[in-house]
Amino acid sequence: MGSGEEQLVEAVKELRHGRTELLDSLLTLHARTATGDGALLSPPRSSGPHGAAGDSAEAWADRTIRCIFDMVGAGRGVEAHMVATAAVTAFCELDDDDQQSRILAAAAVTGLGVGELNHAFDLAVRSMVLLWGGLLSPDAAASTANSLGTFFDRLGAWDLAIDQFETALSTLDPTTHTGALRAELTIVNLVMCLHEVISDGRALPEADRVAHVDRLHQLATQLRGHGPSSTVWYGSLLADASLALVEERFTDAALAAELLGAVRDSMVVREELAWRLAGAAAMLGAQRLSDADHWATAALRLAELGDEFRVPDVLRRRAAIRWALGDQSAAFSDSMAAVEAMAATRSDRIIGLAAGLAHRARLELVRRELSDVSASLAITAARDPLTGLANRRGLDEVISLLAQSQQRASMLVVDIDHFKLVNDTYGHDAGDEVIKACAELLRQAIGPAGLIVRLGGDEFVVVLPDGKAQPHRIGETVCEGVRGYGWHTIAEGLRVTVSVGAAVGAARDLRELMARADGALYDAKRAGRNAVVSVDRRQEPRGDDVYEHLAITRLDR
Ligand code: GH3
Ligand code: MG
Repeated sequence: MGSGEEQLVEAVKELRHGRTELLDSLLTLHARTATGDGALLSPPRSSGPHGAAGDSAEAWADRTIRCIFDMVGAGRGVEAHMVATAAVTAFCELDDDDQQSRILAAAAVTGLGVGELNHAFDLAVRSMVLLWGGLLSPDAAASTANSLGTFFDRLGAWDLAIDQFETALSTLDPTTHTGALRAELTIVNLVMCLHEVISDGRALPEADRVAHVDRLHQLATQLRGHGPSSTVWYGSLLADASLALVEERFTDAALAAELLGAVRDSMVVREELAWRLAGAAAMLGAQRLSDADHWATAALRLAELGDEFRVPDVLRRRAAIRWALGDQSAAFSDSMAAVEAMAATRSDRIIGLAAGLAHRARLELVRRELSDVSASLAITAARDPLTGLANRRGLDEVISLLAQSQQRASMLVVDIDHFKLVNDTYGHDAGDEVIKACAELLRQAIGPAGLIVRLGGDEFVVVLPDGKAQPHRIGETVCEGVRGYGWHTIAEGLRVTVSVGAAVGAARDLRELMARADGALYDAKRAGRNAVVSVDRRQEPRGDDVYEHLAITRLDR
């Protein structure tokens, strides 16, 4: 043994009296001389309060092991292994199987960390011999098994690792303070290990997978009572496990629901979410767009499960990724979904943001000549309070938005027949109900294909930006729907019909189109109401545009 190592063994012995300064300075010195690497010069991360200096072998081993694993945790594996090796020497002078087995197992872990496989196996076997001899105290057996579990875990021998962690847990007495602390550490180790097995994607019998999830859930619930650090594990691990399982394989609905519930109220969903979003941003930065999309989708799923307020933001980010991917229509529907999700949160501030987003979405819409105009108007203030439909301002917006369009569009003007009479006979309130019902019938007939506007009074306008729409057919559907509606639910004896004027023409000239549709409506009223009249634009040989009647349908009463 070189003198440096001897000093290290002496330093480990000093740990017996709770003194860590000597170890710190030795390690610093050693690092400087051995590697000349400045990065190693700072002392190892403080290993926290060591408690009162005790001189029992157990307290000494506790301090030493904590010191070793703290260094491992701080990424200082080489130093950790130096200390562990020195500790093996120091503890082998004792006739104490309990502490020897613990130190041997810890040294096996650090040995793996520095790649000394043979040596590490040798140490592990020595500690296993002591453990399996059955003569260790429960505490020492648990501590040894925990380290051995970590040893197997690092080797990727998950089944053996799980066995060791379970052994440790069954040996510990969680009613004592130390027992509870150790149990928590072991649970965290076991949870990570189970999680690894479940999400590893290896072929695993379904029964085993379900059993692992069951156990994971049980442990996570146990951990939950242990404060924030445990909650971190609990939240992120459950989030992942439940997502993977519920989405792809898991069949036990009750447990699945429980897992999801657990995820939902976990504050740590946020951390996991941030992690996934960071993944998406990194992939986007690296131009690995489909990976970015994958991460963003994973983030979205988590947000939907656990943090609905983040959904709009995540959707927005995914929209940007999809735009970069060249999938404009997916990008558009993500931004529309973001708008809707924002509206759903019902916060003024957020609705303000949403309106801004809707505006941007509309601009994109015009560029792409997408047809879902009504969705893009979902959030604007340009809405009629009685029916929730767009109002005249909404219509003006769409007219200016489509001013550059090269497409053909259609327009319907719908007016309730003899509505004054409805008001006079059944009262203004019944009249309002009629207007609302007509709005609903229009929604049903048009769906998302067009924008429905209440122009004022009993008059509605429908803009269909898809040049291939069949406005006359749609007008007939509207007329029939209104005529067949159960109006008696509003007032006994009430009957309502509408007249429709329709026009087809250039989308960039919606005002002209509306004038034509209005003219057609006038013709429908003159034809006796409860009728549809539509006109189409046609070019005269001289080049003039003229509108001519396309069709007239008069519905029977
Ligand atoms: P026509 O078949 O020619 O359309 O006859 P009409 O009686 O429906 O005539 P018009 O469309 O000009 O009448 C519209 C009436 O709608 C006038 C107004 O009193 C009534 N009105 C306007 N806004 C509202 C409203 O918000 N609620 C109710 N109940 N009535 C309204
Ligand atoms: Mg009317």
